[in-house]
Amino acid sequence: MTARIIDGKAQAAALRSEVAADVARFTAAEGAAPGLAVVLVGEDPASQVYVASKAKQTVEVGMRSYEYRLDATTPEGDLLALIEKLNADDAVDGILVQLPLPRHVDATKVLDAISPAKDVDGFHVVNVGRLSTGQSCLVPCTPYGSMMLLDATLPSLKGLEAVVVGRSNIVGKPMAQLLLKAHCTVTVAHSRTRDLAAVCRRADILVAAVGIPEMVKGDWVKPGACVIDVGINRIPAPERGEGKTRLVGDVEFATAKEVAGAITPVPGGVGPMTIATLLANTLIAAHQRRGLTPPPFFAALDKRLFG
Ligand code: NAD
Repeated sequence: MTARIIDGKAQAAALRSEVAADVARFTAAEGAAPGLAVVLVGEDPASQVYVASKAKQTVEVGMRSYEYRLDATTPEGDLLALIEKLNADDAVDGILVQLPLPRHVDATKVLDAISPAKDVDGFHVVNVGRLSTGQSCLVPCTPYGSMMLLDATLPSLKGLEAVVVGRSNIVGKPMAQLLLKAHCTVTVAHSRTRDLAAVCRRADILVAAVGIPEMVKGDWVKPGACVIDVGINRIPAPERGEGKTRLVGDVEFATAKEVAGAITPVPGGVGPMTIATLLANTLIAAHQRRGLTPPPFFAALDKRLFG
């Protein structure tokens, strides 16, 4: 059997169109477009690419984009002062601080300085707590985008066995919370899990968020399972020429696709959903901050996934 390939690029484009239509309605009704502020500290090349891409897509869906590029040596106090300013700025509905931050900056302190109402990355401890107690909140973009891919792929998630490999605060833990909220039976596996292959083989939904290239092999996948590969790893590709590289996930795609029922490719799977979901979160935050009900699209999605 060859798996259905889950087209994250197409899903992300559809989500952006949905967001753009709602941004137009919001802007006409409120007299101002939602605004997203992105803060980048330092010159990390991957972060620079992400931030540029976020700003471009923000403008494309009709929202206002505010970019703050700070020197790598910026003192923590200056960064906290900027966040304070953005918290108080009514034109800003969402604030995202690009990770990783330089070592001299305490990332937890910075993330917790963001107003929970503007925390479009969903990393503030208030949003984390609200998610884990099943309350409405801003949800981390990558897991939320992965849930949207599952929603588009499976008729229902209820009662399915889900295994999440990885327990990071950014992906693994919130993904597990969302699957639990969607009524799956959830196992979180990690670096100390015994017989990881056997644990993975139980999964109807297998989510890999580890950061190890092609770690999950085809014979770890239950026949017919839905595989969500969150990993983005750049590996050498000498076959493409000297010094060339290519992107691979945490799942060995070539073997897993022969066993799975559906699978996300890398690139073109979860990755494109992350920025589209960030835009959706900014739109949701803009509504919630004004006491408005988020657009019906999100209520319907919530009902399908969590109802
Ligand atoms: P992380 O390093 O913070 O966490 C990795 C997790 O994997 C840890 O919880 C660890 O326990 C687990 N782990 C490590 N080695 C393991 C092993 N041998 N067996 C089982 N578990 C093991 O990473 P992260 O931030 O969660 O990111 C994971 C992957 O997802 C990375 O490849 C990252 O680049 C990618 N990522 C992609 C997106 C996206 O937009 N698609 C967003 C965030 C992260």
